[in-house]
Amino acid sequence: MKVAIITTGDEILQGIITDTNSAWLSEKCNSLGHRVVWQFSVSDEVNDIAQSFRFAAQKADIVLISGGLGPTSDDITLQVAASCFEKELIKDEAILKKIRERFELRGLSMTESNEKQAYLLEGSCELPNEVGTAPGVQVEWENTTFFFLPGVPNELYQIFTDSIKPWLENNADECVAEKILRCFGLPEAEVDTKIKAADLCGAKLSFRAKYPEVLLKLVARGSDRKTLAQHVSQAAQNLQVCLGDVIYNEGEEELFAKVGALLQEKNLKLGVAESCTGGYLASCITDVSGASRYFDRAFITYSNEAKTESLAVDPSIIEKYGAVSEQVASAMAKGVLQKSNADFALALTGVAGPTGGTKSKPVGTVFIALASKGSDEAQVEHFIFSRSRTAFKQAASWTAMNMLRKSLT
Ligand code: ATP
Ligand code: MG
Repeated sequence: MKVAIITTGDEILQGIITDTNSAWLSEKCNSLGHRVVWQFSVSDEVNDIAQSFRFAAQKADIVLISGGLGPTSDDITLQVAASCFEKELIKDEAILKKIRERFELRGLSMTESNEKQAYLLEGSCELPNEVGTAPGVQVEWENTTFFFLPGVPNELYQIFTDSIKPWLENNADECVAEKILRCFGLPEAEVDTKIKAADLCGAKLSFRAKYPEVLLKLVARGSDRKTLAQHVSQAAQNLQVCLGDVIYNEGEEELFAKVGALLQEKNLKLGVAESCTGGYLASCITDVSGASRYFDRAFITYSNEAKTESLAVDPSIIEKYGAVSEQVASAMAKGVLQKSNADFALALTGVAGPTGGTKSKPVGTVFIALASKGSDEAQVEHFIFSRSRTAFKQAASWTAMNMLRKSLT
């Protein structure tokens, strides 16, 4: 069915908050076999909001509205709906009780303005809010189903997932099969060139450059779920043949979680030594819940002295080849193994820039070493990521983790 999405709030129009709710809702609706035909952000003005409701009802079968269900005076979405749809607002004692209990549970007393959130539109139904106070509301008007949601993203996600998604699944007029392929190590344009000849089996392919990775999304729409799933799987296999191990995973799991799972599966521990990334790699590793099961430690050795003191890097190597060198990266990785319980060690040394580059080691130069217990030689690779400091740290950290992935698979 056709879907329209309305987000409300002056802050969106003023650029103070970024409207992520629309993107999130659109993606979900499209995945569930509906088509988002119209998106609109509207101010906190009564007339503008009412106009957007009327317009949306003409354009779509389903309207999702985010924001303005809160207790404050600028939260007027349901009041506008009541007058626009000519429906009464009716106090719901059960909702009021729930809101009061929520406050009591936290040792707070409910303010009078929160009482406003216990009103439903005549003929509507409550979509329970398990995360916050204002419930979502579902109501029919002009042969259109309106879903009102709070603006707070976590509340919107929960209500959508628990109450609206099942409804959309039951009311979809087509089936959708999807697959996401996560790529790392090649720029978008090169990925595109490599897959030019791949048979997509009727699926639609879209690219998303989510720096530093590239996501490929295959989508097939039709009437038979099983056939669509087969087509998407076959298309994914065809892409895999073209891209090989550039595809590091399918689905939602990112690189750091993927490699973490591999380490855990093999009961191996990782340690890292970071110079130019200043802890960024360790931060990405520990962004994954449960990382303590496979992550031993990080050495952040920015100065030459730190490299020598913490990792036993021979000062004469630094003197001879420079801190940014294959030899120092290798010594750092070996130092991690020596000073820790890790089975694998990653080490990075480079020039993040924008200053500090030389002719032989320009800004963006990085040496990444991977050493493993029981092997005398570290594998060292050299890259140039000439980008902003943050993008450099991202590219270098992801590349290091990807080197480990390749050696584990
Ligand atoms: P509240 O009870 O917090 O007032 P509400 O349902 O009235 O919730 P809004 O007041 O519109 O919703 O928004 C509350 C907060 O939610 C905003 O300050 C903003 O941080 C976030 N938010 C609102 N709309 C969006 C949106 N479209 N995308 C992302 N975040 C949003
Ligand atoms: Mg509000």
